[in-house]
Amino acid sequence: MSWFADLTPYTYHEHVGGEPEPNTLNIGWLDTGMEFSTGECDRDFVARLRDLCRDGVNRTRGLYRCNLCSTSAFGGIWPPESNRVASPGGDFVVGGAEIRVTGADGTVYAAPDMIIHYVERHQYKPPEQFVAAVIDRT
Ligand SMILES: [Zn+2]
Repeated sequence: MSWFADLTPYTYHEHVGGEPEPNTLNIGWLDTGMEFSTGECDRDFVARLRDLCRDGVNRTRGLYRCNLCSTSAFGGIWPPESNRVASPGGDFVVGGAEIRVTGADGTVYAAPDMIIHYVERHQYKPPEQFVAAVIDRT
């Protein structure tokens, strides 16, 4: 997966041959060695984010593994433990799709579906405007 700083213009899909997506910002494209904000996230936000990640867009055939997890976390099983999300509505696999969330001001946020793993396992705390967009989503 590629690293992009939070709140920079999203160009990844266009880069790989997709249509440009104007007014879209990157969120949660984390990579090892790059700093990201951490902290406690609102439980309602996490629950809503989990639901969003279950139904990702721009699905690819392969699976990206979390590069923040140590390699020992993969354990030779498939899908890797780092790609599995436990959910009250049924466990699911992330790492092969993205999500889109539209804020009240019309800004669209593009994140890898693995963002839920980053939030739950690596204490990633996304920017406030993204959190608000996810919570306000009806
Ligand atoms: Zn991880």
